[in-house]
Amino acid sequence: MKKLYYIDYPQEHVQDQMHRYQCVYCKVETTLINGKLEGHLATCQYRLKLETAGYEALASAEEKPTPQDADDFD
Ligand SMILES: [Zn+2]
Repeated sequence: MKKLYYIDYPQEHVQDQMHRYQCVYCKVETTLINGKLEGHLATCQYRLKLETAGYEALASAEEKPTPQDADDFD
């Protein structure tokens, strides 16, 4: 059983970072988790709960990181 995105985990503010959020359990930032189960630590309660429920971490990243527009050297 797989879900495309795992975004229903409890989140909290990163300390002193009002615009950044992290998983309540494993404290990994949401931008690093990126909606992926494997983005959580293997010890994360949320990840463990879903894995126990039969969800799998997606083996390969579906989305390739798109490089920001780098300055071209002309
Ligand atoms: Zn987590």
